[in-house]
Amino acid sequence: MKRDEALKRIAKLREIIDYHNRRYYQQDDPEISDAKYDELMRELQNLEELFPDDGLASSPTQRVGAAPLAKFSPFEHPRPMLSLANAFTPEEITDFDARIRRMADLDRMEYVAEPKLDGLAVNLIYEHGLFVRGATRGDGATGEDITQNLRTIPSLPLEMKKSGAHPVPDFIEVRGEVYMERASFGKLNHRRAVDGEEPFANPRNAAAGSLRQLDPKITARRPLSIFVYGAGLLKGMQFSTHFGILEALRQWGFPVNHLIEKADDISACIAYFGRISSLRPELPYEIDGVVLKVNDLTVQEVLGSVSRSPRWALACKFPAAQATTLIRDIVVQVGRMGTLTPVAVMEPVNVGGVMVSRATLHNEDEIRKKDIRIGDTVVIQRAGDVIPEVVSVVTSRRTGEEKFFYMPSHCPECGSNVVRLEGEAAHRCVNLSCPAQIKEHIRHFASRDAMDIDGLGEKVAASLFDAGLIADPADLYFLTEEKLLPLERMAQKSVSNLLDSIQMSKTPAWDKFIFALGIRHVGEKTARLLAQHFAGIDELMGADVEDLTQIKEIGPEIAHSIVGFFSEPKNREVIDKFLRAGISPLVQRQRKDRPLDGKYFVFTGTLETLGRNEAKTLVQELGGTVQSSVGGKTSFVVAGASPGSKLEQARNRAVAVITEKEFLKLTGRDKS
Ligand SMILES: [Zn+2]
Repeated sequence: MKRDEALKRIAKLREIIDYHNRRYYQQDDPEISDAKYDELMRELQNLEELFPDDGLASSPTQRVGAAPLAKFSPFEHPRPMLSLANAFTPEEITDFDARIRRMADLDRMEYVAEPKLDGLAVNLIYEHGLFVRGATRGDGATGEDITQNLRTIPSLPLEMKKSGAHPVPDFIEVRGEVYMERASFGKLNHRRAVDGEEPFANPRNAAAGSLRQLDPKITARRPLSIFVYGAGLLKGMQFSTHFGILEALRQWGFPVNHLIEKADDISACIAYFGRISSLRPELPYEIDGVVLKVNDLTVQEVLGSVSRSPRWALACKFPAAQATTLIRDIVVQVGRMGTLTPVAVMEPVNVGGVMVSRATLHNEDEIRKKDIRIGDTVVIQRAGDVIPEVVSVVTSRRTGEEKFFYMPSHCPECGSNVVRLEGEAAHRCVNLSCPAQIKEHIRHFASRDAMDIDGLGEKVAASLFDAGLIADPADLYFLTEEKLLPLERMAQKSVSNLLDSIQMSKTPAWDKFIFALGIRHVGEKTARLLAQHFAGIDELMGADVEDLTQIKEIGPEIAHSIVGFFSEPKNREVIDKFLRAGISPLVQRQRKDRPLDGKYFVFTGTLETLGRNEAKTLVQELGGTVQSSVGGKTSFVVAGASPGSKLEQARNRAVAVITEKEFLKLTGRDKS
């Protein structure tokens, strides 16, 4: 075959295959047999190999075809994916506007208003116009690399279009939301029911489950879609407004939601919220609110962010879905810290599309405050992913047969005494080796955000413990096939899978390991802080309360909890056992090298010894951030010779102004 003939055929085949992909994946209505489809695909692959061309990057052969993975690799986002502050009422929305207008000193703020899709946030990296990598949001700093799976989403461009008014940037992080349309979700669940598989609870779960498949071929068969809504790090190009970025994204061939609008001021935003609320039932996909973003990017930068949420954006949520049902019983669950949590067992009821039969009652005080009794008819509500809650009791439905609930005086799991410590709302089991606590502790240890041991959920953790194979998380690393095979429901394959994932967890990220230890008051965020400040387990175990409280965000309560944890002989034993098993956390960086961590600098005037870029690099290397103008977050303004208006801004905002020499002292470069 001649080259030009081949190229024609290649183009034709791509068109045909794209068409059949849409029939198959999006419309669930295939026109040709799988065999015929495979034949077309093979023909295209062969031709592409013989006659490589420019269109290869976006060819359907590039979407599916990667081999299944053993595990997702972690992916550090070039720029963190922040979470949004929430508003639930119009007052909260106008308060938000008033607050940021005050900070930015503006009479009127222009926004971009967008529907808030109820899907899964993802980060897409394009280099020189080609899709090279994509990841889940994860904890905002690190997600999971799901490049293979993202490639299978038909509406995700593998290559950015070059035809638009904007050239293609060298590097761009595109932020988007992967979702499943309601109709596709219905068909998928139907197909699963026919195949005897468990249906998904809602489109969001279906989308999340589909994206986290290790085998991209499974993801490819799920009807996923994507909308993009912004950019993270962008190199070689600048925009002045968020709306401008959205327009460029559209021109580059990305699917941008057509309901996104510019809003002149906050009242236009509130009107938009009302319009979208009434449109909501007719939309082909699920949304749970609208997002408002300040349009002017310079103003965004001035506003900055606070505790991992940008100050310039707000998620306005629709009211939570509610339903009425009957409480059949109140049972007590024992958690990792020995906390007893009362849980309402209810007549199953559909709340906003999800069947619900349990709701947390938090603690005894909460039950008393709301006067919840067994046999009561109650209103429950569910907002997003949150566990359903009881809002109120329908007292008019009371018959007099309802029963009061009392917290048990003894632990339902081990029979030990239950105490309520002063100042705490929770009742706790006093037995440190309470089986319920240990099981929950092991489950926490293995969970995705901790050591991420696949296949070690609640049930497996409990059965290993009940069989006497493990008494603490470190025992996991001494399990063998011989020990596991006799267990009920443990086939050869699941045993070797479990042992594999235990092996794979032996080099956890240092912060994940700290979090996995299950120290009271040490959540993911505190674990990250500790990981930044202590270079290994010995250093952390050796820290006293004073060392710990030197870290700004760590108060005495957390510090005492950490010191207490490591002084407990039982815990030291478990840590020894981890080390013997060969667990070696990957320690990343030390505080000592980052004296400017969390500090924000603005430079003005001419510096004596440092060039402006040199100063900027120095700040960044030492963990700090350089801002272009003085804002609420600014820690220091460094003033050189003939400083500009920024000096005045600093004085107005009472921000510390320092000399170059003082700056160098902060960095540790000048010891004089
Ligand atoms: Zn107990």
